[in-house]
Amino acid sequence: MSRRRELCLDSLEQAAQALATSRAAVAFTGAGMSVESGIPDFRSAHGLWRTYPPDEYATMSAFSADPAKVWVMLRAMVGVLSAAEPNPGHQALAQLQRMGRLRRVITQNIDGLHRRAGSVDTIEVHGSTTGLHCPSCTLRDKRASIPTRGVPPCPRCGRAMKPPVVLFEEGLPPGAMGEAMRLADACDLMLVVGTSLAVYPVASLPDLAIRAGATIVEVNTEPGHLRREGAIELAGGAAQVLPLLIERALELAG
Ligand SMILES: [Zn+2]
Repeated sequence: MSRRRELCLDSLEQAAQALATSRAAVAFTGAGMSVESGIPDFRSAHGLWRTYPPDEYATMSAFSADPAKVWVMLRAMVGVLSAAEPNPGHQALAQLQRMGRLRRVITQNIDGLHRRAGSVDTIEVHGSTTGLHCPSCTLRDKRASIPTRGVPPCPRCGRAMKPPVVLFEEGLPPGAMGEAMRLADACDLMLVVGTSLAVYPVASLPDLAIRAGATIVEVNTEPGHLRREGAIELAGGAAQVLPLLIERALELAG
């Protein structure tokens, strides 16, 4: 068992000062951001991939071979996500952006909780579960709801549709990764929250920011992944740490 990591108050102050003086901050969030909203990391012991092994249920080849089977997993996924609410960490990031102190949020999460908390222009690099899209002809229907049964056919080509969430073996949404890279390259501070940096190419975004000379503030319950790169580490969950950090940064910024 790992010991519980304690939040270091000196690091919190250092991070708050960096954020208060930053002119181009961005946030990059992963599964840990939403754990306190009741969404277990899909990879964890209670995660979705335990019941639905991704190679069987979450790849494009599985979807092409048997869309009805993959839709069983997709409905379970949407069920988990739709029961969740934004937590104080999502709300703090939205507030930081409203105050003009955060350019945008880049997220690996597909739960839409940043949007629901009020973040604007969030880049969802792994897609979302809002609406339906057709992987065959690329038709996108943003207002379509998730059907309670069966496989929805594409109104244009008749083939199987799915939510616009990115499956394994599937390309990232057009433009999203390019926009995320542009932001990472132009930021002076990146808040890296709740990501194990395991999924590429998205996990390379902090490297881009580091190469551009940005300060990295890493919030995670796990030991930091960017310590060797000089990141300021804040141990703890997003819902506890982000409100403390952001309240203090806004106080310092006046
Ligand atoms: Zn189609």
